[in-house]
Amino acid sequence: MKRVYLDWNATAPLRPEARAAMLAAMDCLGNPSSVHAEGRAAKAIIERARGQVAEAVGASGADIVFTSSATEAAALALAGQGFASTELEHGCVAVWTSRTPADPAKTAQQLANNETGEIYEVPEGTGFCDAVQAFGKIPYGFAWSGVERAMISAHKFGGPKGAGALILKQGVDVVAALRGGGQEMGRRSGTENVIGIAGMGAAAQAAAKDLENGLWQIVEQNRNVFEERLLNEVPELIIFGSGVARLPNTSYFAVPGWKAETQVMQMDLAGFAVSAGSACSSGKVKASRVLKAMGYDEITAGSAIRVSIGPSTTAAELESFADAWLKEYKRFKARRKGK
Ligand code: PLP
Repeated sequence: MKRVYLDWNATAPLRPEARAAMLAAMDCLGNPSSVHAEGRAAKAIIERARGQVAEAVGASGADIVFTSSATEAAALALAGQGFASTELEHGCVAVWTSRTPADPAKTAQQLANNETGEIYEVPEGTGFCDAVQAFGKIPYGFAWSGVERAMISAHKFGGPKGAGALILKQGVDVVAALRGGGQEMGRRSGTENVIGIAGMGAAAQAAAKDLENGLWQIVEQNRNVFEERLLNEVPELIIFGSGVARLPNTSYFAVPGWKAETQVMQMDLAGFAVSAGSACSSGKVKASRVLKAMGYDEITAGSAIRVSIGPSTTAAELESFADAWLKEYKRFKARRKGK
């Protein structure tokens, strides 16, 4: 059975450009901090990737700090800095921020939510912006956004897992947590992940190109056709974020009472990878914290599944997912009636 992958917000497939850049970097012997030719070659890979990332995120005049993940970038920017945010932020931001309102310079605001795909206003002067889900799916320019700090994560746009970046407006600094070797201008010590960084640079460049080529408009059309079909056949369906600005690739919906965990397992057995909101390291499915913060009850928040797609997802794949899901829905309805 050919598997169909519909979980791009958890992680996106590796781009061929990223794979090629990483394979080339694997053969690079030197330590980027060494002064000899081998070391300089490794350093050159990092600096090329830095340029690619800077250009792709429109970060002229900004500093890019490579990290092991967006989670690390969030910790580097936010830990102990007195930032505030709402409960809608990803856990890696929420954990370092309070829920008390603060002025924009001390506010963390995501550009798009990983579960609902909702896109938010990020006012100029905002202290921290989580652009992890937005970058590569909608136009994003760090410079024109006017924020002071932002972060992205390679594996969300076709780079490798375990590579992220913090983008800092010129003049804005961080308090280094990892200290010692002084890499990344003293902001993040530790020998750099040359392979991951090379992959991230290539993926960022390719992602920016895809966006210019209009690939995500087709993604959005496919998503909308898919949602229309589900809504036609399931009038009780709730589609989260459907009335507001939303990422083109995300569809997050619930039939209250039909547990997300059950649906995810049923769909997995039928050959489809989807998720119940955000991916959790324990692999356990809990009622969505985001939906609860949006005011939904426990049952609805525990029944939401997320289908997230990308440019290589075909309309036929979405159709076959809808067929399989609707088949299970009919069974669920019959069970519910029988109770
Ligand atoms: N922020 C958002 C909105 C995310 O969706 C994720 C990943 O799920 C992260 C941050 C964390 O990224 P990473 O996997 O690089 O730690």
